[in-house]
Amino acid sequence: MKNIKEIRSDFPILNKEVYGKPLVYFDNGATTQKPQSVIDSVNEVLTSYNSNIHRGVHYLSDMSSEAYENARQKVASFINAGKKEEVIFTSGTTGSINTIAFSYGERYIKPGDEIIISYLEHHANIVPWQMLCERKGAVLKVIPMNENGGIIIEEYHKLLSSRTKLVSVTQVSNSLGTILPVSEIIRAAHSMNIPVLVDGAQGIQHGIVDVGAMDCDFYTFSGHKVYGPTGIGILYGKEKWLSELPPYQGGGDMVDKVTFEKTTYNQLPFKFEAGTMNYPGAIGLAAALDYVTAIGRENISLREKELLQYATEKMSAIDGLKIYGTSANKIPTISFLLKGIHQYDTGMILDKMGIAVRTGTHCAQPVMDYFGIDGTVRASVCFYNTSEEIDSLVAGIEKVKSMFA
Ligand code: PLP
Repeated sequence: MKNIKEIRSDFPILNKEVYGKPLVYFDNGATTQKPQSVIDSVNEVLTSYNSNIHRGVHYLSDMSSEAYENARQKVASFINAGKKEEVIFTSGTTGSINTIAFSYGERYIKPGDEIIISYLEHHANIVPWQMLCERKGAVLKVIPMNENGGIIIEEYHKLLSSRTKLVSVTQVSNSLGTILPVSEIIRAAHSMNIPVLVDGAQGIQHGIVDVGAMDCDFYTFSGHKVYGPTGIGILYGKEKWLSELPPYQGGGDMVDKVTFEKTTYNQLPFKFEAGTMNYPGAIGLAAALDYVTAIGRENISLREKELLQYATEKMSAIDGLKIYGTSANKIPTISFLLKGIHQYDTGMILDKMGIAVRTGTHCAQPVMDYFGIDGTVRASVCFYNTSEEIDSLVAGIEKVKSMFA
């Protein structure tokens, strides 16, 4: 494995200074930085073979179409999908969840049906289901959470019934870092023939994805959270579902034959890819997955476990600091508050020291409501971060405290 110096030199932005201080980037939960190979691959598309995909017979169009379809294959292999036709390119996790909420909802949801989500969801996995429930007169059920930031799994089992038509849960909580027991959730749902969507927006970054082993029916993620470009994402779906579901959007490329009387649709995966797709993004995403594979998912996971342990130890020792999300099974995300100091103040002062953290509700307002707070400071760490950077954060927090003393 590359050493940490080599890894960091792969990411040009990590050498940056802000306010004359070395950048400490702890906002990886919101978006990750990009290695040079990803930047180069997008640059190469735009400078060497840019052309719309699936449309022309000319040289450049062939090249971009081939690279785009190779990217699809790469994603399929990375997540261990059965076939590449089960991989749909979208604009991101939000786009992918909305696709299923619309498409599955149109076909299968009727008044009185129930959809189960968890308390820990990002708004992207709450609002599309609420909109669907409003459209169809269905009911949203929520798996409750506990003080540690986990879900109460026994309550999930009680919620499952013949009225349940879909379960949609996050693999990892973005606000607290908790890893949810998705395998158990899927097994229980499948025993009652209920499909499960897993929101992998946070899971993918930490390498924990194997849709074959998980046996989920749908899996969604965003390129920008796994060191790839923004504006590109993935909807994985089992072929049996995707072939049955109606398309989400209509337009070019998703059609077979169009007349004013009737239109027939293209085969998978194109049925779900209407209009000009973000092919530079897709190709950049494939480069990002190549990068992650070259570093090694096991290596990433080991390194992140060490960083989590180090950060938790150091930060727990700070007087007046409370960590939200204390599950034993979590990614290196530390959500915290300092006693008597507003999260925005903490975030703004840390920023002046060159330390980028996220503040606010993290698009997970119900989680904040559960704890009776209006937000947290979130340090989301990933494998290119270092223990020295965690030391800088700890020193920064002490400085914040001293300013408010
Ligand atoms: N789901 C989770 C768990 C997330 O963390 C996020 C983004 O933070 C999303 C969904 C939405 O992702 P995007 O904004 O890339 O569509």
